[in-house]
Amino acid sequence: MIVRLIIFIALVSLLILVYRKFTANKQATPPEADAASMRKCAQCGIHLPESEACTENGKFFCSDAHRQAYLNNNKDD
Ligand SMILES: [Zn+2]
Repeated sequence: MIVRLIIFIALVSLLILVYRKFTANKQATPPEADAASMRKCAQCGIHLPESEACTENGKFFCSDAHRQAYLNNNKDD
């Protein structure tokens, strides 16, 4: 009798744990897809879609002019 009760409690606890894991995973997926596609110009700070951005050494720029300006300002690195 008591063994059945313990098994029942263990099963319920397991179900709660699994349920919490599922709901936690759903909450752990913020709208990052939108944020990931927007890039910030390293020169002027404007945000633009990644597809329209110029890249250099892992940095993003709104235009080729800003990419050149940034490279000229950071030649010492
Ligand atoms: Zn810019």
